[in-house]
Amino acid sequence: MAGRIVIDMERCKGCGLCITVCPKSNIVVASDSNKSGYFPAQAQNRECTACTRCAVICPEGIIEVLLEEPDRVRIVATAARRDTPRMVEEKR
Ligand code: SF4
Ligand code: SF4
Repeated sequence: MAGRIVIDMERCKGCGLCITVCPKSNIVVASDSNKSGYFPAQAQNRECTACTRCAVICPEGIIEVLLEEPDRVRIVATAARRDTPRMVEEKR
C-alpha cells in the first residue's frame, strides 16, 4: 500500500517543517513561488508511507495524507484548513 500527500501549495508559508520531518525525503521546496510570494513545499510522492508526520507538524494545516488500499483511497490525515473538503476517492 502506498501513501501520497496533497499540499495546498497556495496556502503554504514555506516554513519547511514538513520537509524536515519526512523520513522518506518525499517533500521538496518548489522552484516557483505561490501567489503570496512563498516558495511552497511540494510533494514528490515516490516513497510516501503515509506516516502523517508532515501533516501533524504543518502549522498551517494544509497537508492531506492518503493511503492507497487495494479497493479504495483512504484519507488518513485531513487538511484542516483546505478551502474545499475532498471526497474519499473510490477506485472502480
Ligand atoms: S506522510 Fe510521512 S512519508 Fe509521507 S510525505 Fe508525509 S512525512 Fe513523508
Ligand atoms: S509545514 Fe506546512 S506551511 Fe510549512 S512548508 Fe510544509 S506545507 Fe508549507
